Amino acid sequence: MERTAFENTEVAFKDKSNQALRRAYWLFNMVGSPLLVKVGSGLLRIAIWLHLPVNWALKPTVFRHFCGGETIDDCQNVITQLGASQVMTILDYSAEGKDTESDFDFTRNQIMATVDKAVDNQYVPYAVFKPTGLIRFALLEKVQAGESLSDTEQSEFERGRKRFEDVCTYAVKRDIPIMIDSEESWIQDVVDQIVEDLMFRFNKEKPMVFNTLQMYRHDRLEYLKAFIRKAEEQKVFAAFKLVRGAYMEKERERAKNMGYPSPVYPDKDATDQAFDQATAYCLTHVYTTAVCIGTHNEDSCAKAAAHISGQSVDPGHPHISFAQLLGMSDHISYNLAAAGYNVCKYVPYGPVKTVVPYLIRRAEENTSVAGQTSRELYLIKKEIARRKA
Ligand SMILES: Cc1cc2nc3c(=O)[nH]c(=O)nc-3n(C[C@H](O)[C@H](O)[C@H](O)COP(=O)(O)OP(=O)(O)OC[C@H]3O[C@@H](n4cnc5c(N)ncnc54)[C@H](O)[C@@H]3O)c2cc1C
Repeated sequence: MERTAFENTEVAFKDKSNQALRRAYWLFNMVGSPLLVKVGSGLLRIAIWLHLPVNWALKPTVFRHFCGGETIDDCQNVITQLGASQVMTILDYSAEGKDTESDFDFTRNQIMATVDKAVDNQYVPYAVFKPTGLIRFALLEKVQAGESLSDTEQSEFERGRKRFEDVCTYAVKRDIPIMIDSEESWIQDVVDQIVEDLMFRFNKEKPMVFNTLQMYRHDRLEYLKAFIRKAEEQKVFAAFKLVRGAYMEKERERAKNMGYPSPVYPDKDATDQAFDQATAYCLTHVYTTAVCIGTHNEDSCAKAAAHISGQSVDPGHPHISFAQLLGMSDHISYNLAAAGYNVCKYVPYGPVKTVVPYLIRRAEENTSVAGQTSRELYLIKKEIARRKA
C-alpha cells in the first residue's frame, strides 16, 4: 500500500456529516495554536481544581471528538459507526488521577465490563487497560527503585498485582485478547515483570495478553528481540502493541534532573527507525508473534503494509492489527480498513471531568507533533472541497 493511498478522503470521511467535518476543522484549527492550547489547558486544570462546571464547554466539543461517551453504553453509536467501515473499537476507560483502593477496584470492574461488551459485540475485538488504573504509581515507583516496603505497602502491591491477574484471567476465559498500556520508564520495569508472567501463563495457545513497547526508548528493540526468542523457546506467543511513546519530555527532564542518561533516543529519526525495525521484526515472526501497530505515522503504516504484502501474508492475518486514537488520523484507519487490514480505534470513555487529562494530552500532542494538525486540517479541507465540487 502506497502512502498516497491515505489521501483518499472520500473513504477517510465517508461516515462524517458535513457538520461533523466542520466541527473537526474548527477543533483542529484551535489545537493548532500552541498559545491557545497552553492557556486553555491551564484554565481547564484550574476550573477542575475549583470544581467549576466544565461539561457544558467540553462535552459538545473536544470530548465529543476524542471520546466515545461517559459510559460503555454511550459508546454504542461510535462503535456502530466505526464498525460500518470495518474499523474496530477498543474501549478504553480513561478516568485518570485516581489513587484509592476503591478507585482501582472500580476501574478493574470497568475493564471487566469492557470485556463483556467485547464478548457481545463483533466490532470490539480487544480490551485494554492502563497499569496505573489498577495500582498506585508511587508504589510501583518505590518497588522499581528497590526501596523496602512496609507490610501495608507489600499487601497493597499484592492487591494491585492481583487486579492485573483478575482482569487478564477474566478476558482470557472469555476469549478476548487484552492489551496493557505502557507508562513512564521509572515504573515500567515492574509492570513488565507482572505482564511477562501473565504472557507466559496465558499466551500458550494464542496471543491473549499484549504488552506495550515504547520505541522512543533505546533499550526496547533489544528487549523485543530477546522476548520473542525466549517466547519461541518456551512455545508461547509473544504479543506486543508498538507505540513511539507519550512521555518524552517527562523522561528527558527526570533524567536530566536526576543525572542519569535519558532512556529516550536523542532524535525523532532514531525513534522512527526503531519503531519501523520493531514492526518489521514482529512481522517477520508473525507466526509466533502478534503485533498491534499503534501509530498515526503514515510512513510507518505504509512501510508495515508493504512489509506485509512483501511477505505474502494476508493483510487480515489475525496476528496483525493497526490502531489509532478516536478523532485522529481517520485517513489512515479508514483507508487501511478498506484495504483489508485489521484496524482499531482506541475509544476512550469516562465521566467528562475525569477524562480531562487525556483530552489535554491529545490537544498538546496535536499542537506539538510536527505536521499532525496541519495534516488533519489539509485532509478535512480537501474533503470539504471535494464534497462541494
Ligand atoms: C492506539 C494507540 C495506543 C497508544 N498507547 C500508548 C501507550 O500505551 N503508552 C504510550 O506511552 N503511548 C501510547 N500511545 C501514544 C504514542 O506513544 C505516541 O505518543 C503517539 O501515537 C504519537 O506517535 P506517532 O507514532 O503516532 O506519531 P509521530 O508523529 O510519528 O511521532 C511522534 C512521537 O515521536 C517521538 N518523538 C518526537 N520527537 C522526538 C525526538 N526529538 N526524539 C525522540 N523521539 C521523538 C515521541 O514518542 C512522539 O510522541 C498510543 C498511541 C496509539 C495510536
